[in-house]
Amino acid sequence: MIQSGLIYSRVFSGCTSRSESQILGAMSKLDKVVAESRKNSEARGHSYREQALKMYPWICTKCTREFSRENISELTVHHKDHNHDNNPQDGSNWELLCLYCHDNEHMRHLDAAATKVNAGNERTGTHATGKPFANLKDLLDRQR
Ligand SMILES: [Zn+2]
Ligand SMILES: [Zn+2]
Repeated sequence: MIQSGLIYSRVFSGCTSRSESQILGAMSKLDKVVAESRKNSEARGHSYREQALKMYPWICTKCTREFSRENISELTVHHKDHNHDNNPQDGSNWELLCLYCHDNEHMRHLDAAATKVNAGNERTGTHATGKPFANLKDLLDRQR
């Protein structure tokens, strides 16, 4: 897999010879980037889903249910760190989940967060510090 990636990048970099139009293209690129980022923040809710669906096979990561054009609307994009504004272009924060598994994932996150907050308040009355997912692994292990 690494090898085929290398071959690809070699083929592409071998083809780039700078022409005048490319330099002009690079100069107008800044305008484009500004426009793009504006567009992205407006349509963020849709664009990251499309990107994720292009990037990953249409399969629920949790229950491995497969999806097709007919029912793709039931496949959703989950943010692994639960931050919907964190959308790295390599898709590392995305996970494709069916509606049911996505619901479960969020219920678990809420439960864990609530437990953490309650425990922190009872013991010290101060702000909870440290790792938000510290007890998530325990929860997961227990459910197995
Ligand atoms: Zn699922
Ligand atoms: Zn989610």
